[in-house]
Amino acid sequence: MLRIGAVRWRGKCSKHPSYDPTDGVGLTVATCERCAMLKEILDLQRRMLELMRRFNPPREKKRGPTDADRQIGLFDDF
Ligand SMILES: [Zn+2]
Repeated sequence: MLRIGAVRWRGKCSKHPSYDPTDGVGLTVATCERCAMLKEILDLQRRMLELMRRFNPPREKKRGPTDADRQIGLFDDF
C-alpha cells in the first residue's frame, strides 16, 4: 500500500521571481537552471496526478432525480 500525504510547496527563482511555469515554458527555462527545475517539478506533479487518476479513477457522483425528472408532464396519466 502506498500512502502520500498532502503536499503544499512553493518555489521561486531568485533571479526570475515573476517566472511561473504554469504560464508556459518561457525563455528563462532554457537559460536558468532554477527556472528549469520549477518547470520540471510542475511537469512531474502533473504526471503524478495523471497516474493517480488512472490508477484510481474518480467515481461519478450519484445524482438524485433532476428537476426535469420531477416535472409533471401535461399529457401524463395520473
Ligand atoms: Zn530563473
